[in-house]
Amino acid sequence: MIGMFKKISALIITAALCAGLSGCGGAEYLASGEAVRTFYAMNTVMIINAYGKNSEQAVSDVQDRILELEKLWSVTDENSEIYRLDHNYDHGQAVEVSDVTRDVVNFALDISNRTGGALDPTVYPVLSAWGFTGDEYRVPDADELSRLLKLVNYQNVKVTGNKIALEPGMMLDLGAAAKGCASDIAAEILREHGIGSALINLGGNIMTVGTKPDNTGWRIGVKDPGYHEGEKNIGVLTINNNGSGGTAIVTSGNYERFFTAVDGTVYGHIIDPKTGYPVDNDLLSATIISPNGLLCDALSTAMFVLGSEKAAEFWRENSNKLKGFDMLLITKAGGVLITDGISDSFSLTDKTLDLRVIN
Ligand code: ADP
Ligand code: MG
Repeated sequence: MIGMFKKISALIITAALCAGLSGCGGAEYLASGEAVRTFYAMNTVMIINAYGKNSEQAVSDVQDRILELEKLWSVTDENSEIYRLDHNYDHGQAVEVSDVTRDVVNFALDISNRTGGALDPTVYPVLSAWGFTGDEYRVPDADELSRLLKLVNYQNVKVTGNKIALEPGMMLDLGAAAKGCASDIAAEILREHGIGSALINLGGNIMTVGTKPDNTGWRIGVKDPGYHEGEKNIGVLTINNNGSGGTAIVTSGNYERFFTAVDGTVYGHIIDPKTGYPVDNDLLSATIISPNGLLCDALSTAMFVLGSEKAAEFWRENSNKLKGFDMLLITKAGGVLITDGISDSFSLTDKTLDLRVIN
């Protein structure tokens, strides 16, 4: 529980910081119809800033829709589609899900495929054994992990139309992709209301729409993943969208939710599905930037699992196939690796770090 509170307070600070960076809140913007909506969903604090006519109604509709998505995807709500699937005691029996759930599951499985299982939405039984799904953290032993790893395999999720079937004991969890998908849907709802300028912050999963009301780019801070005394940025991304187009910025790292075992080892909430252990490679965080929030969320988790070398290789081979994405990796050795597409929009403020461009 303590870990949880820590996460919430950190997110509130992030949100305040992001809002500060984006220069929202001025009387000028209020006059032009700014609406701000803050609420708790999907285990995190969500803040929607929208500018323009209809913005109040728009942010309210976004909140309603995200709460609906949470009801579909919660792993603990007995009425959710994911809960029904995970607790389908007659496993092998398919469970009928809504179109949006089918789409996000198919998308996640596609990314699992492309990343060789670095993203695996069936890692839940292992995640649970470490206590990341409840309040009590623990270190499972090797036997327990190898037994649970037999249940982890995205290839055993069978999707036929809107019907999804798992094998006995398997569990599916959309935690690594849900907020990204929600950010795409939120941006769409805002556009339907005619909003051309908005900042959607779903617990650090950022989606920008259009430009700031003063027509300048959004300034999004990139957090220092090694700093635990509060919030600090290592640099800033300036995002300029065309028209009411959008850009998502999503970061994964094991610094957000973690615990320290009695022997001093720090374990984080992103699991390497190959080993069953929390990721421990050369990375502190992986940030993905693209117009597609779901892609950013799924890939930020997967690239964090892969580590810098394989992530760079993945970007070279797949960026075009996935309609283009950029990447910012922060390494334990004090390096910041960015793909060439963001070399003009990223400015490093922490000059102790070594900036390199991947191309
Ligand atoms: P956050 O939700 O903190 O923003 P992520 O998008 O990286 O971070 O998702 C992490 C969540 O995804 C974990 O809390 C867990 O529910 C789930 N998860 C952990 N490891 C994996 C993995 N290798 N593949 C898919 N999901 C994972
Ligand atoms: Mg993710």
